[in-house]
Amino acid sequence: MADRKIVEIVCVGTEILLGNIVNTNAQFLAKECAALGLSNYYQTVVGDNAERLKETIELALSRSDILILSGGLGPTQDDLTKEVAAKIAGKELYLDKKSEDNIKAIFKARGYELTPNNIKQAMIPKDSIILDNSNGTAPGVIIPYNDKYMILLPGPPGELKLMFKESVEPFLRSLSKEVFVTSTVKVVSVGESICETKIMDLIENQTNPTIATYAHDGEVHIRVTANAETEEEANKLIKPVVRELKQRFGNNVYTTHNDVSLEQAVVDLCKGANLRIKTVESCTAGMVAARIVNVPGASEIFKYGLITYSNKAKRKLTGVKKATLEKYTAVSKEVACEMVRNIDIGPKADVLIGVTGYADSNDESVPAGLVYIAVNVCGKTRVEEYRFNGDRNKVRTKATTQALVLVRECMLEYLSEMTFRDA
Ligand code: ATP
Repeated sequence: MADRKIVEIVCVGTEILLGNIVNTNAQFLAKECAALGLSNYYQTVVGDNAERLKETIELALSRSDILILSGGLGPTQDDLTKEVAAKIAGKELYLDKKSEDNIKAIFKARGYELTPNNIKQAMIPKDSIILDNSNGTAPGVIIPYNDKYMILLPGPPGELKLMFKESVEPFLRSLSKEVFVTSTVKVVSVGESICETKIMDLIENQTNPTIATYAHDGEVHIRVTANAETEEEANKLIKPVVRELKQRFGNNVYTTHNDVSLEQAVVDLCKGANLRIKTVESCTAGMVAARIVNVPGASEIFKYGLITYSNKAKRKLTGVKKATLEKYTAVSKEVACEMVRNIDIGPKADVLIGVTGYADSNDESVPAGLVYIAVNVCGKTRVEEYRFNGDRNKVRTKATTQALVLVRECMLEYLSEMTFRDA
């Protein structure tokens, strides 16, 4: 691993320093760089100030091989990144005709008036590599400098992510003789410390591939990264470790692919088994449905979702009985089960998910974080009680993830019963 490069991330923007926006670009870039096998020791945020930006870049260049800068490529006076980086590298800016034409064409297509400062975005430092922006006007640039590189990317996350994938990733890969391949084994229903204990022997003996666990919104991700001369060789190194992890965690592993989410796994399971989902949510108020419909193609399996926040809505929209509400209260196993009875209101579904709980409370008699989740798969209902800690947001997020975990478990149970019955 002699040629492992050190990357440093610098995000430019006073908005980030003021807390007006969350620095999601740093998170994205850090994850991508780690997956490429780059070491990242420092991340900095600096405001739109030429002097401080210069200091930041110079310091970063003194300790890292590759700088990735986000933001400040726009048309206005406070967009300074390109100008400052070019000055440090001793490169003049020139007007790049292709970038200029591209900006003009975008403005024309959108029917916007082009002002002279927009052309500033087509000014490129000499001897640099231009990165096309498929999602906006400002091109990115790679400025080579004393065997190092400054990679300048636009701030808007949609532009930055696409540019990274299309141009920066291939460029970074080309700098190394080694290929890094990562597989992420994503585990649910097992806490991080138990997860780590279960694989401590593998972690302690790791060399290549390396193994690391990360807790992630109620899930544990085990990242397995191998480096080799070719992708095929790296894959060969990864395979037995991933197989071993799958064996240790069984059905708790929902994917070994980096880009498959829990909701994607649920949607895929539904599609494979030809099952359709409906949600009935109280305290999560649509969050479970929202995660499901985040998956492209979810319309094939998602019928509709109800938000039944009040008792009246629970009775009217899902047929929960008044007597059940009075006897057990809205946050109870009994009500959760009645929420997923698939009564004849609207289109029927094969899989129903019901969530009811207290996201928080001002009253000691009401236990904050108490949540019941019921799942009905083709007529068979399972209901579970959870006690989540954290504030209102945390409880709702955890309940949403747990609903997806439970529905996946119930579907797997149903599918294995079907296979057993058919055999
Ligand atoms: P523009 O051409 O839109 O001016 P730019 O490259 O100059 O782009 P900025 O002006 O720094 O970028 O940021 C534009 C917008 O991009 C910000 O208002 C913000 O919404 C988003 N953004 C910038 N930096 C980040 C970041 N680090 N993380 C998340 N979002 C960001």
